[in-house]
Amino acid sequence: MNIFEAKDKQFVWHPFTQMKGWLENDQTVIADAKGIKLFDTDGKEYYDAVSSLWVNIHGHRRAEIDQAIIDQLGRVAHSTALGLANIPASEFAEKLVKAAPAGLNKVFYSDDGSTAVEVAIKMAFQYWQHKGQPKKNRFVALDQAYHGDTVGTVSVGGIDLFHRVFKPLLFEPFHIPAPSCYHCQLADDPKKCKLACVQALENLLAEHHDEIAALIIEPLVQAAAGMLMSPSGYLAKVRELTKKYNVLLIADEVATGFGRTGKMFACDHEGVSPDLMCLSKGITGGYLPLAATLTTDEIYNEFLGDMKEKRTFYHGHSYTANQLGCAAALASIKIFEDDNVIAGLEPKIKAIADKLALIGQHDHVGDARQCGMIVGIELMEDKVAKKPYPWDQTTGAKVCMKAREYGIFIRPVGDVVVFMPPLCSTVEEINHMLDVVYKSIDEITSQGKTAAGGGGAHF
Ligand SMILES: *Cc1c(COP(=O)(O)O)cnc(C)c1O
Repeated sequence: MNIFEAKDKQFVWHPFTQMKGWLENDQTVIADAKGIKLFDTDGKEYYDAVSSLWVNIHGHRRAEIDQAIIDQLGRVAHSTALGLANIPASEFAEKLVKAAPAGLNKVFYSDDGSTAVEVAIKMAFQYWQHKGQPKKNRFVALDQAYHGDTVGTVSVGGIDLFHRVFKPLLFEPFHIPAPSCYHCQLADDPKKCKLACVQALENLLAEHHDEIAALIIEPLVQAAAGMLMSPSGYLAKVRELTKKYNVLLIADEVATGFGRTGKMFACDHEGVSPDLMCLSKGITGGYLPLAATLTTDEIYNEFLGDMKEKRTFYHGHSYTANQLGCAAALASIKIFEDDNVIAGLEPKIKAIADKLALIGQHDHVGDARQCGMIVGIELMEDKVAKKPYPWDQTTGAKVCMKAREYGIFIRPVGDVVVFMPPLCSTVEEINHMLDVVYKSIDEITSQGKTAAGGGGAHF
């Protein structure tokens, strides 16, 4: 164990981590990175095949982003957004509004995905008070949703393992079914169901719209739930129904934004303009913490008034509109334009689809699903009966540890192996990474047949 691993184990508490398992196992310490590879303190290299948990877009140490941050450091690292404007925040806001779905004209900055969602929830809630409809104060969330880890965002979350323990602290939203065809329990044949999952929403809104402020959704992909993907047309239908029943739509694009789904934003696939949109993760190309909540003139204008009208949005953070973050974000969105990043994704998305067609045939792969550059490979003990592995066998984690031995860093969500490479990955790199993923799945799942246990899972 080198001194950094020792100090980590003595002093650091890791997120979403059972620290007992962490302390008992060898841990990797990252020292540097280049392109889509990470290097540890022993010089071993790993492909960053989950984009450093879904944030990295153009690779590590990308010259243009590095230089933008260095240039900004030569001016000012941070000044407050309370009472002061700054240069990169104003420039980036303009770029964001131009890139975003039509009608999202205002940008409220914060620091991470959770705060971007927290802001959207509070804006939606306060908006209806200004409109003289204070009874519209509840939210609709999807089963299995994940919107962050603060108390407000956990309230609209639906992942039992993470969220149940905090239940006494939370407000209670209405829940609707997760629109995932592979897991559907509403229809016998998802191909002919005509979006049965939308019916539950229509029923709910018809009955309760008077008490509902907003519906919050991860458009197209419920990421933390295990890359659950909604059928085509679902999002557009949700927009149609929320409009019909006068309910705001909050699109949480924290994971799906900035090209992951093959378009700049997931909402673009179905021509949807939400009332509020939350962005973070990829916003700075994966360099620095920054987030934004975008909204419409309609909502923004309801917060205008004299001081004594008390229409002010009383929310903000110490590092709101941080210059270094905004400078990185500006450089990142400029790369999208200069390199035509979105158009360049097409052959990469096709390469992934070709590999998944093979991976999906494996005896222990129940479902190999893809939305653009986002992949979830769901492992099954018995594929035909759709019988999962016992969750405490941590089969997904074992597959990922095996892949790490072969130089690919990936993280599972339960027994869904997630693959979400930086958008700059080449077709060759994608093919190599997915070959290793397949090999790791094959080795771990065939091991399970002869002897239980084994592998080096952490938790
Ligand atoms: C990651 C994520 C969040 C939370 O973002 P943090 O930066 O981790 O607070 C919120 N919503 C979605 C959809 C996410 O994937």
